[in-house]
Amino acid sequence: MKLGIVGLPNVGKSTLFNAITKAGAESANYPFCTIEPNVGVVAVPDERLNVLGKVYNTKKIVQTAIEFYDIAGLVKGASKGEGLGNKFLGHIREVEAIVHVVRCFEDSNIVHVDGKIDPLNDIETINLELIFSDLELLDRRIQKTQKNLKGDKSLQKELDILNKVHAFLETGKSARAMELDDDEREFVKSLDLLSFKPVIYAANVSEDEAAGAEDNDMVKQVREFAATEGSDVIVICARLEEEISQLDDEEKAMFLEELGIKESGLDKLVKASYRLLNLISFLTAGEQECRAWTIINGTKAPQAAGKIHSDFEKGFIRAETIAYDKLMECDGSLATAREKGLIRSEGKDYVVKDGDVMNFLFNV
Ligand code: GDP
Repeated sequence: MKLGIVGLPNVGKSTLFNAITKAGAESANYPFCTIEPNVGVVAVPDERLNVLGKVYNTKKIVQTAIEFYDIAGLVKGASKGEGLGNKFLGHIREVEAIVHVVRCFEDSNIVHVDGKIDPLNDIETINLELIFSDLELLDRRIQKTQKNLKGDKSLQKELDILNKVHAFLETGKSARAMELDDDEREFVKSLDLLSFKPVIYAANVSEDEAAGAEDNDMVKQVREFAATEGSDVIVICARLEEEISQLDDEEKAMFLEELGIKESGLDKLVKASYRLLNLISFLTAGEQECRAWTIINGTKAPQAAGKIHSDFEKGFIRAETIAYDKLMECDGSLATAREKGLIRSEGKDYVVKDGDVMNFLFNV
């Protein structure tokens, strides 16, 4: 899963990104870990893996991870090709979702590009660039559809939706905020519009507000706006995250407790990403390795198997599976679970659930 980090200059993107790369330093052994400088990998915390690891006395625990892309350099005028505009918009097209960092901290030493801190204005500046780029795409698509309509009247429906989306974007709102029926949604999704991508607004607050139970006024504004388009908000302090990222697990727990913070910002970010993208994890367990795998909720067994290896998907026969909680009722022992008849055999139409411990049987 790929998410892109965007935001105006000086809002804390690099600081957050540094925290991500440092926290993910150990992730060098993720099989899909890229070494590009603009990619950071964050492990998805999953306590179930540690428990399974103990039960199986496993050699290796492999967490699943989310990749974050640093898409710096998005500035006003990007859609007109200013700065390295088009290149950055292209990067956004490649990610599944966007983390939009918004400055919600006061600090007179740190200059704001527009001379004042105004989260809603910042959000609008970035969102408008994406909307402008989408409008151009829609213009081209509308022209093409109008031309083809002469030979194929069935395209009228598509043209209607294209015009509807165009009119909506012209009001300055993002496509993700539109009310659409299922068919329309399916079609709009296929257009690959930037402003249709799901967004998490990361409200970057100051160190002394990170533990605050109350949102500051700027965060409140961000929440209100996010609600109008069904987006998620997390409150983080990028600077603290950078410090936290250099600690080991034990030190981190102590540090957070001292500060009165329940959960680190990165953990919040990972959870929000899971929620936003409708992701779940299934597990595999054994002496060699206990491991979590990310899939989209609704994925069927063969495609889930394909996450492990394409041969598993091609040669899929069936899956032996048990829910993590059920397995724990048998003290984690697959043998006991088998004796009790709790291990189910599932076929190719089985929809994998979060926490399913899977064993795939396949033909080679
Ligand atoms: P970018 O341009 O969006 O990548 O912003 P940077 O991450 O470089 O941050 C710009 C400045 O803001 C740097 O001096 C950071 O140290 C500072 N900064 C980032 N996050 C925070 C924060 O949470 N609190 C404070 N006080 N400063 C921050």
